[in-house]
Amino acid sequence: MTTPVLPHSPEALIATYEGVNLVGGAKVPAAATLPVMNPATGAQIGLAAASDEAETAVAIEVAAAAFTAWSQTPARARGKLVAEAARALSANAEVIAQVLARETGKAIRTECRGEVATAIDILDFYAGLGSELKGETVPFHPRSLTTTIREPLGVVGAILPWNVPLVLMMLKIAPALVAGNTVVVKASEEAPFATFAMVDLIARILPEGTVNVINGTGPACGAPLCAHPKVAKITFTGSEAVGQAVYEAAAKKIIPVSLELGGKSPMIVCADADLGKAVSGAISGMRFTRQGQSCTAASRIYVHADLMEPFLSQLTEALEKLKIGDPLDESTDVGTIINAKQAKVIRDFVAKAEETPGARVLRFGQLPEGTDLSPDLFLQPTLLMDLPADHPCIQQEIFGPVAYLEAWTDYEEVMAKANDTHYGLAASVWTTSLSTALDSTARLNAGYVQVNQNLTIQPNVSYGGFGRSGLGKEASLEAMLAHFTRSKTIVLNFD
Ligand code: NAD
Repeated sequence: MTTPVLPHSPEALIATYEGVNLVGGAKVPAAATLPVMNPATGAQIGLAAASDEAETAVAIEVAAAAFTAWSQTPARARGKLVAEAARALSANAEVIAQVLARETGKAIRTECRGEVATAIDILDFYAGLGSELKGETVPFHPRSLTTTIREPLGVVGAILPWNVPLVLMMLKIAPALVAGNTVVVKASEEAPFATFAMVDLIARILPEGTVNVINGTGPACGAPLCAHPKVAKITFTGSEAVGQAVYEAAAKKIIPVSLELGGKSPMIVCADADLGKAVSGAISGMRFTRQGQSCTAASRIYVHADLMEPFLSQLTEALEKLKIGDPLDESTDVGTIINAKQAKVIRDFVAKAEETPGARVLRFGQLPEGTDLSPDLFLQPTLLMDLPADHPCIQQEIFGPVAYLEAWTDYEEVMAKANDTHYGLAASVWTTSLSTALDSTARLNAGYVQVNQNLTIQPNVSYGGFGRSGLGKEASLEAMLAHFTRSKTIVLNFD
């Protein structure tokens, strides 16, 4: 098979997907469009489809029609096509990353290339798991064969946010496809074009209608996708409020739903931690180079009082070195916030901290000046200190480059503080003591707990939150089996 090739320039690639959905391998024009902006410049980069209920239904019907043939394709054959798609994506990775940087405002060097590579890695990982769709045999009766088999669910609706759209999409569609489901992706209306490019390449390799992508707003396109009778499963990543609406829509049809929602993840640095590693872990964990726009951001950092002074001084030095600027400039570390609405939300949180008596607000790095860049969407990495435990900046997700930092001395107290939010997505502990590591990881109320590292999503490492952070797991074999298949019990009796 010849590897499909996308246009080499990001502008030409964006133009390819203007005003259309990709349904059944074809570009289907939408009646209305919505503008997609480059947050770094404020310029419009293209007009994306603004699908309505009827246009959404067309994609679902096409995916439903493709289901029988795809679900009956042997699992390893499905996996081989998915592996082929991963190779096609690798061959086109750079232009996809360039589009992603333009629509998200994330820096090309520190974020976008890595995101494309991780998305491809996840697809490649799942491609090999077709033969793991195993059932069980049950010792029901000696003269009967009782067994369970894994079946795909049907049409999966995958709804994406804008912050890491490609990786989060792949966590959904790669296991869904390998398990034999067909898919309708609902792109994020803030950043749809790189998503379209990836789905386009996969769709050119898989049978017609197996994978489709539509764009539109949440109410006009996302909600009808959830409500449609032929959608058998919704997998959603986004905000808590929309997650609740998606859950309600799924409840009305009694269909399974996976939700990856927000977080307020603690990072606990113990007195015996390796200081250098903890400082770099705070920068990578807080996703400062993604402007903190991450659900797993280590946004509450508790440092043992014995280490606080050198920790803060080394963190300050490192944050001051981060270059904030044009996402397309190879020397830039930190790009822009996605849009003015989000930037205001972040500024309002920081203003609440500034109004709090005794609080400290520390900002680092230089905002870009004297360029064509949109000044309002660049924010400095910021640390907040000395806030009361119930402050909104400690309890609520800010989704910006703003972390809370506090010194601790009492282990019991810091464990209680770490667990004192309604979220439960991720946590990390920094210690050289195995017993502290084992004790703290057992106590922390989070779905993804790391010791001495703050890595992001890794293939085959189950990822998903507790509490208001969501329902279900992603990224692993366990996630594919639990969330993209159903188990059927079969009893054969020839007695
Ligand atoms: P959002 O909830 O506003 O939108 C997410 C998606 O849902 C978009 O595609 C949107 O169009 C769609 N949508 C909106 N209303 C809908 C409805 N009624 N029915 C169906 N779909 C609807 O989130 P966002 O602003 O795009 O992303 C930021 C949020 O995502 C943050 O709160 C962040 O914590 C969360 N997030 C979570 C994870 C995770 O893995 N837990 C990862 C990334 C982002």
